[in-house]
Amino acid sequence: MESMEKILMYVMVEWCDAVVKITVGVYSEVDFREDDLILKDQILVGAQHSSNKVNCMVCSFCFQFIGSIELQIGRKLYLEELGISADGECGSSGGMECSSSSEKTRLSHTTIQSLMDGCLRLPYSENFPLPPVFPCLGGCKEAYYCSKSCAQADWDSFHSLLCIGHGSSSPNREALLKFMKHADETNDIFIPAAKVISSTILRYRKLKAARVEQQGKHVTSDPHDNCIFPLLLEAWKPVSMGFKRRWWDCIALPDDVDSCDEVDFRMQIKDLAFESLQLLKEAIYNRECAPLFSLDIYGHIIGMFELNNLDLVVASPVEDYFLYIDDLPLSQKEEAEKTTKPFLDALGEDYSVSCEGTAFFPLQSCMNHSCIPNAKAFKREEDRDGRATILALRPISKEEEITISYIDEDLPYEERQLLLADYGFTCKCPRCVEEAP
Ligand SMILES: [Zn+2]
Ligand SMILES: [Zn+2]
Ligand SMILES: [Zn+2]
Repeated sequence: MESMEKILMYVMVEWCDAVVKITVGVYSEVDFREDDLILKDQILVGAQHSSNKVNCMVCSFCFQFIGSIELQIGRKLYLEELGISADGECGSSGGMECSSSSEKTRLSHTTIQSLMDGCLRLPYSENFPLPPVFPCLGGCKEAYYCSKSCAQADWDSFHSLLCIGHGSSSPNREALLKFMKHADETNDIFIPAAKVISSTILRYRKLKAARVEQQGKHVTSDPHDNCIFPLLLEAWKPVSMGFKRRWWDCIALPDDVDSCDEVDFRMQIKDLAFESLQLLKEAIYNRECAPLFSLDIYGHIIGMFELNNLDLVVASPVEDYFLYIDDLPLSQKEEAEKTTKPFLDALGEDYSVSCEGTAFFPLQSCMNHSCIPNAKAFKREEDRDGRATILALRPISKEEEITISYIDEDLPYEERQLLLADYGFTCKCPRCVEEAP
């Protein structure tokens, strides 16, 4: 196990692109001017936060909003009516009274239903078209997609082993449900971690099948067989870029935990990860991929999401829709608001909630930190899916290293170093060298 972990940590990344080259950092292959788009970083593994699912219905693979403006609004009001709120609390439901949160007004069940099934169209919503909803291939009611190709890609890459529907490839769906419930109740960072493991297993199986086909060679399923390990390493490669520190070592100490209780706190986090891993093992354990199910590897996978400083955020088209209505010429606006206002009132302040989740951006994670970075990774307003954007903060010349800041670089020297200690290094960027006491 020890050696497996070490090898997994040192797998070299051989990923090339027209504009950048990766070695131990990311280097520019061309000249960039200030504000130039350096690249768009695709999510390797991501998951919408469990609590966010009430607010936004997005494609489980590319994270763009799906259905229609009407469906987005209707579904949210419907779930709230059932007493399911975004913070997981069950409010009192039924009756025509105002809901618990102060300014919201309630709409009738029939109105909400007609919005959801498309009978009621909102004015000007045709200006905000969304892709239709495709169900999960395994028949669960948890994952939805923007297209057949996203449904298929998610199924092939992650979901077939983690689906709780009838078509699932998980050997133990009951255990899978327990795992999901545990994640929802404790920390939903376990869900993207499980996706990393399932995708590695699925990639491993594909590689093995290809090997058998190419060479006609019999590949055994004995984990001690010499040809298994290189295939597993190959399957692991895309993830290896993000491997930094164990979750319980790198998670920031919450404000309400005293520093003298730090050891206990980290131990509790480790125990929680152990609990989660046991449930996941029961659900999708694969003997040939046994090294993936060690607590150490699981800790590193979760750590990868913990240390990734870019969240999954996709702005809501529902917000744009209401802003559009608000911007209409007065007479049109007044006419439209006769229909839209009751819905806006029913949604209350939550009308503009974005899709939020945890994600791992492989290229961004390869970029080294600097307290005087030359680039910035972020989500732009116009990015309507799970991709992130890396922009040049100043001119960058060819062969120069592209750096981003992992922390708030405006903080003073000591605070910066303290935060960077979570990433396991002492910063020696030109600014830190100059400011060091
Ligand atoms: Zn999609
Ligand atoms: Zn499914
Ligand atoms: Zn620095």
